[in-house]
Amino acid sequence: MNNTDLHIHSYYSDGSFSPKEIINIAIKKKLKAISITDHNSLFGSQEAYNYKKNIEIIPGIEINSKITEILGYFIDFEDNNLNTIIEDIRESKTSSTYDKIDQLKDINVDIEVEEVLEKVHEKSYPMLSHVAMVLEEKKICGFQEFFEKILPKTERAYQKQYTNKKIIKTITNAGGVAVLPHPWFLSERIFEEFDCFLRKIVSYGVCGIETMGAVPDKLKHRMPIIIEKCKEYNLVPCGGSDFHSDKYLKQNILGKYNIPYNTITKLKNHL
Ligand SMILES: [Zn+2]
Repeated sequence: MNNTDLHIHSYYSDGSFSPKEIINIAIKKKLKAISITDHNSLFGSQEAYNYKKNIEIIPGIEINSKITEILGYFIDFEDNNLNTIIEDIRESKTSSTYDKIDQLKDINVDIEVEEVLEKVHEKSYPMLSHVAMVLEEKKICGFQEFFEKILPKTERAYQKQYTNKKIIKTITNAGGVAVLPHPWFLSERIFEEFDCFLRKIVSYGVCGIETMGAVPDKLKHRMPIIIEKCKEYNLVPCGGSDFHSDKYLKQNILGKYNIPYNTITKLKNHL
């Protein structure tokens, strides 16, 4: 087989599986290469890279910026600036998650910090998805319902955020290439000005965008625009499952999206 999956989360962010377990699933599915792209963390990707067996591991990460997220591939795990920024984001996300747990109490959604921490791997950090896992288990609301219906009822919790430019430059300065993940999820406001948004991030150094992945039915109408713009800006069409778990986000199935191996070759040409 000649397929890959370039967007996977491990338990070092908000996934359920260890890098080793992910590698074993990928081998069973006969993938030729994978990338573990944890949120603001390199632990999972590095562990997979050191473990590798019968499968190519592409170093990867997914970093939060002010308005979206940016994927980075082939980054140097030891790069100082990259590590400083992601540590900073993890700290800020931790305190904003604690703030959010407080705010939820104000709207009678009762959840304790300790319950959330039980879901968090010792090298990960508390995220909103961990909160959603607990709420689903307590049958207070569904995982997705938390993001769509409960969260909008709370105020925005403060968190330190970096611009797209800063994140993209940090990835490229760390020897990597930057890719825009799941553009179909961009907010209505940003997607209305997708051309302008894309032109900017390409000028900062983005060389690929995801055009293949778990696109919800209600957002499929955005795909022709995304594919057309990918061609227009001569970007590498990328993709992956955004796999997290077999319990939550079940629509994101590891290895499902037939991302061809030459995606990696095309990205390497931008190094
Ligand atoms: Zn992701």
